[in-house]
Amino acid sequence: MEPLKICWVSSEMAPYAKTGGLADVAEALPAYLGSQGHDVRTFLPLYGRIDTSQGFTVVEWMVDRPLRLGGRTFHYTLVTDSAPGDHLQRFFIHCPALFGREAIYTGDSDEAIRFAFLAKAAIECCQGMGWAPDVFHCNDWHTGLLPLYLRHHYGWDRLFERSKTLLTIHNLGYQGMFPTSQLGALDLQGCAHLLYRDDLDAGVVGFLKTGFLYADLLSTVSRTYAREIQTPEYGMGLDGVLRARADHLVGIVNGVDYALWDPATDRHLPYHYSAEDLTGKLENQRYLLQATGLDAEPSEAVFGLVSRLTAQKGLDLLFEPLQEMLAGRDVRLVVLGSGESRYEAYFARLAQAFPRKAFFYRGYNERLAHLIEAGADAFLMPSRYEPCGLNQMYSLRYGTVPIVRKTGGLADTVQLFDPATGEGTGVVFEHQNADAVRWALTFALRLFGEPEAWRRMVTNGMAQDYSWQVQGARYEALYRAMANL
Ligand code: ADP
Repeated sequence: MEPLKICWVSSEMAPYAKTGGLADVAEALPAYLGSQGHDVRTFLPLYGRIDTSQGFTVVEWMVDRPLRLGGRTFHYTLVTDSAPGDHLQRFFIHCPALFGREAIYTGDSDEAIRFAFLAKAAIECCQGMGWAPDVFHCNDWHTGLLPLYLRHHYGWDRLFERSKTLLTIHNLGYQGMFPTSQLGALDLQGCAHLLYRDDLDAGVVGFLKTGFLYADLLSTVSRTYAREIQTPEYGMGLDGVLRARADHLVGIVNGVDYALWDPATDRHLPYHYSAEDLTGKLENQRYLLQATGLDAEPSEAVFGLVSRLTAQKGLDLLFEPLQEMLAGRDVRLVVLGSGESRYEAYFARLAQAFPRKAFFYRGYNERLAHLIEAGADAFLMPSRYEPCGLNQMYSLRYGTVPIVRKTGGLADTVQLFDPATGEGTGVVFEHQNADAVRWALTFALRLFGEPEAWRRMVTNGMAQDYSWQVQGARYEALYRAMANL
């Protein structure tokens, strides 16, 4: 089959610029596609924080190019850290006037202009290269205007005659809403009739919502989230628009980078293990309990939690049930995370109340995250909504039973264990209340008390494959279907 030409545009990409899961996908998916022989070119702003001192070169015929946006002319230079001819070429748009700041996202008055510029610059770079992508793969609100620009502002260019646009929603919580006073600066004054009338009347324009209207296809990072965001409960005001495009909205779960997250090779772990021999897991557990100062040898399970501490993650559902469990059962709890103060305060209080059973590390700590995945018996993810979620997939691979709420990617990747059939990979609860969590914790502890059942559930989980080899192939099929190739 013919290799595909994919133009990837995003505001984040690990390891250069990361605030969340989008960055990981932006690193791994293009890399997978390149490894399959496709011609993949990625475009990322060259933020001030990106160190270009090593391995970066200027693309010589793309230096100091003018780009007009909203009556202003900005100049940019294209920079790359890839070699010409590589299947994956990563390009960085160097425009100090807009991106020469430390932060990826800013509250600055030109925030909308920065990302409108990213979309236009990516298109113009393709023009400069005389390269017609089969698919422009856009991500989140930052690239939401690209499909409209491509069709309207660059519709004259026959180069893009066959190019299609895919817009992936990584988190609907961020929509890129700006006042209509910016329409001129975004080159949208002349095509206001192409924007949502209701929004214009309310004095706003939404990048993501506009993308929903003009992208050939929409996707999100799990099938369940794709369904959920079409409901008022999860749609964050955009469910109507998404329902209108339901036929063009698909869900593909993110892949896991098993080169980094595999207990058999994980460089952060003192002991390695696999499904065949779990002795190392127990050793990691002893190590974790000792390192966190908790009592050794619990007769019941060790629970782990690693998360941004925000409302999305449903941590308030745990408040009472965790306290009760720590008071009544011989369990341990290790929590890692930072975020909103009410959650930080809760976990700090819990650790204080149960100093030998509960530990809280406030902050970000890569190594501890790996240790918790390896050392815990069960992992808590009670999210109120979760577009995809990565930690539950790490947990599966690490033989750590995920206890999750049935939403988004959690619903798609964890199946409730049934002791009667021996099928299932975790504990799944539905309702957003403390009783549902109480049930889940009690059920998990019951299964933990039945070593054969527990072992079966752990082995089922460890056998799951959410690698990019599997998930990336789904994107390839999607691109081919879109491009009719
Ligand atoms: P989200 O993108 O909503 O934060 P995900 O589960 O998709 O949730 O991804 C979170 C990623 O960030 C995981 O790799 C997780 O291990 C990591 N992470 C979150 N908080 C911390 C922390 N405090 N320390 C280390 N890693 C963290």
